[in-house]
Amino acid sequence: MARFIFITGGVVSSLGKGLASAALGSLLQARGYTVRLRKLDPYLNVDPGTMSPFEHGEVFVTDDGAETDLDLGHYERFTGVAARSTDSISSGRVYSNVLEKERRGDYLGKTIQVIPHVTNEIKDFIRIGEDEVDFMLCEIGGTVGDIEGLPFFEAIRQFAQEKPRGQCLFMHLTLLPYIKASGELKTKPTQHSVKELRSIGLAPDILVCRSEGPIPLKEREKLALFCNVRAESVIAAQDLKSIYEAPLAYHREGMDQAVLDAFGIAPAPKPNLARWEDVVDRIHNTDGEVRVAIVGKYTQLEDAYKSIAEALTHGGMANRVKVKIEWIDAEVFETEDAAPRLERLNAILVPGGFGERGTEGKIKAAQFAREKKIPYLGICLGMQMAVIEAARNMANMGDAASEEFSEGVDPRDFTPVVYHLKEWVQGNAKVTRAKDDDKGGTMRLGAYDAVLTKGSRVAEAYGDTNIEERHRHRYEVDIKFREQLEAQGLIFSGLSPDGRLPEIVEVKDHPWYIGVQFHPELKSKPFAPHPLFADFVRAAKEQSRLV
Ligand code: GLN
Repeated sequence: MARFIFITGGVVSSLGKGLASAALGSLLQARGYTVRLRKLDPYLNVDPGTMSPFEHGEVFVTDDGAETDLDLGHYERFTGVAARSTDSISSGRVYSNVLEKERRGDYLGKTIQVIPHVTNEIKDFIRIGEDEVDFMLCEIGGTVGDIEGLPFFEAIRQFAQEKPRGQCLFMHLTLLPYIKASGELKTKPTQHSVKELRSIGLAPDILVCRSEGPIPLKEREKLALFCNVRAESVIAAQDLKSIYEAPLAYHREGMDQAVLDAFGIAPAPKPNLARWEDVVDRIHNTDGEVRVAIVGKYTQLEDAYKSIAEALTHGGMANRVKVKIEWIDAEVFETEDAAPRLERLNAILVPGGFGERGTEGKIKAAQFAREKKIPYLGICLGMQMAVIEAARNMANMGDAASEEFSEGVDPRDFTPVVYHLKEWVQGNAKVTRAKDDDKGGTMRLGAYDAVLTKGSRVAEAYGDTNIEERHRHRYEVDIKFREQLEAQGLIFSGLSPDGRLPEIVEVKDHPWYIGVQFHPELKSKPFAPHPLFADFVRAAKEQSRLV
């Protein structure tokens, strides 16, 4: 039976609760335990699939096809444990389940209320798979005091009460602001935040305090006294140069020890931190720098491309180079020449995206990379744009386009090299979709196999010809243009096992030009960089020697 750790946040949002949870997960693994991490989000969307990347950052997709919060990406990157659809829940999902049950008559005769019906639904969710791991870490989104968070806080209070004593632990993450004028670190916001928690029946066992610098003993003692925790359980989470320093930094601060102590686990198993020591060594001991352009649409919010940025960092670690990302808004290439911004860069990446805005700029970037022989990685929409570019400029199909951007356009006026996919195979089952389906959760989502052509660049990068990668898209490159495009040098080097869906394209006679319909970035880890990103950065490193 798992032990449960509930992670909450206070004072302000964006303190890195997800990161702290993920790092703690990795430290428990280093002590030999198995872990699973979960995110409980108070917002009312059923899942983040329909939210704007500008507002919510990237959508992280699991193997089993759930569209989830980007924190699940942190969890995977730090623990290597593949997230499942049952590791992410929102108020929207909870209420939708409860209402579905109500309509079905499951509660017949009862008045449906937040307590117990909604809280029971949350508790049932937390319990899923509780026998599978040693520790279940559940992060509650938002901050204590948010109205919509209340049912979750109440549910975890009840949950801990129902479990045998000593099986649940509460970790609270807060901010200690530093007041420059008086040279003081202030504990009051944390005291208030804990007071707020206690008023709803939750008493933290461990306080993780974000601060710019170290926390002096005096402040720790004050926090311990006023917040009713042990002084050893006040963990300083100082700003770090790289997020991957977090496991070692938190270990030095005694976070994992405090957790084991709180559970009364003694003697504590010795940690093996070799994996994280190697990761940190690779970050700090680099030989040179490569500059990679991300030509996208949501470039003002880096969180929108979180996993891609991380996967590039991992690719750098594999090659012991620092990867510097240049964020470029694709729209600029619709009015400006691509050369001045792109020519001195060592590689170009066009990420996934939705909607027409910026796509002509992405096509220009793909063309520039192809013609100037700069390494190019196109992901999902980035692959589709590469195919449109090749069709227009290599295969003489000047009107090549995607059906995604041709609403209301006469079908005779363009060649749909990318079309709306309405039927495909998943495992042994056929999946079908209609144009006016609901938007939420209806894409081709989750893990699908692909078969790679022996001897292709992509097969070389993977060192394999059978792969499985995560998908999230509605449109697809049309296989019927294969011959025509291959004749001009755009090779379809990876297909779905039934041969009907192009998964990968690459340009012949180019140092490194690959487009993939899936999202390789979602599976990259600092201790296991994704082979495509490792090889892409290797190619960028070679390119950097030429510039
Ligand atoms: N908008 C494209 C599609 O739906 C690409 C999606 C993506 O890049 N994730 O097919």
